[in-house]
Amino acid sequence: MSEQQEFRLSFEFFPPKTDVGREKLITVRKELNDIHPDFFSVTYGAGGSTRDNTKGIVKKMREEGLNVAPHLSFGGDTEQTILPLLQEYKDMGVDRIVALRGDMPSGVGGAQQLVYANELVAFIRKHFDDYFHLEVAAYPEIHPEATSYLDDVRYLKGKFDAGANSAITQYFFNPDAYFYFMDQCQKEGIDQPIYPGIMPILNYRNLARFSDSCGADIPRWMRKRMESFGDNQEALISFGIDWISELCDTLLDAGAPGLHFYTMNQTEPTATIIKNLGLEDAPDAQEHNHEGCGHEH
Ligand code: FAD
Repeated sequence: MSEQQEFRLSFEFFPPKTDVGREKLITVRKELNDIHPDFFSVTYGAGGSTRDNTKGIVKKMREEGLNVAPHLSFGGDTEQTILPLLQEYKDMGVDRIVALRGDMPSGVGGAQQLVYANELVAFIRKHFDDYFHLEVAAYPEIHPEATSYLDDVRYLKGKFDAGANSAITQYFFNPDAYFYFMDQCQKEGIDQPIYPGIMPILNYRNLARFSDSCGADIPRWMRKRMESFGDNQEALISFGIDWISELCDTLLDAGAPGLHFYTMNQTEPTATIIKNLGLEDAPDAQEHNHEGCGHEH
């Protein structure tokens, strides 16, 4: 991390599908905003209804004066769909986008369709110049479809070369995976910040299922420990808070430039983890901003 680079904290939401979920998220974002994150982000799913949900939540959050970065994972969307959406975001005062490929329906690709995230980054730069700060996805444990470890790192470099400003990682539970990845990125010439994505633990079965599908490794010791809690949700959450706080501490001590929390639309356990780290007021929380152990970027 360069000396000028400031610690960054961000919180991710997904667009709720129900009125109850939308009501609850109003409270959650108020509570998490008390921690003064640098921004919130809202995920995106390809296909009309989810896309409109994302836009709706982003609009509401902008009206509340919140700093919000919509995810834009184009999937099978065409350039003609993406361009007006970006313009609408710009008109709302959104100045940061998380640019992703998303899941590709089979058979896509063609004159009007983008195929990889670097193409979306280039497309946004072409149409909006440097207006947006562009975040992209990074995978310390490597994207499940990657042809090789180094190919994936090089494709990340391709996203930066196309104009991305910074990256957020898939979540991981092994800090060495992130440190090794950062070293490989540095060797490939990447010097932009790569923020660790942090997944608080809420439900073992869901976490295991999701981790298998997105290629995030749950170490055996963690699986065994979490299995041992059975239906004791309280014990699971308490274990998760302790372990994820420790993981964040290790990352920050080694020079990680900030943290991005996958909040799962819940104030807890994210807020308690932040408290454990002494980061309740992010702009003042510079105590972790000391020189790291060689993993700085
Ligand atoms: P890419 O960078 O395009 O990479 C996809 C695959 O292609 C990789 O295997 C890569 O090695 C390879 N590749 C990349 N570039 C090239 C190239 N030029 N030539 C050949 N091969 C290439 N999904 C959603 O649907 N909605 C979300 O809101 C969302 N948010 C996310 C947020 C974060 C922080 C992360 C880490 C992931 C998120 N995802 C989301 C998941 C993401 O969309 C999937 O992981 C998707 O499969 C890959 O997206 P990407 O942008 O990393 O794709």
